Amino acid sequence: MVPLQTPTAWPPGVTARFLTLAGELLGDADVTVDVSVDDIQATARCTACGSTHARYGHADPVREWAQEHAAKCRALPRPTP
Ligand SMILES: [Zn+2]
Repeated sequence: MVPLQTPTAWPPGVTARFLTLAGELLGDADVTVDVSVDDIQATARCTACGSTHARYGHADPVREWAQEHAAKCRALPRPTP
């Protein structure tokens, strides 16, 4: 297994991050599914494949989706130039 690099700072508003399977295999701590919560809804977004899941008012189902997605997502994030 590749040693995990130190993750960068969490993006503003993110309350939970889940390392994806690809991130684990690559040792990249920034390949994640990020959960953010505001007054209206909770939203999860995968930084690798772009999949999103949102729900009004309830963060727990969104966190569960984020964890399940992260456990199986093998997408690679687009390299930045
Ligand atoms: Zn994904």
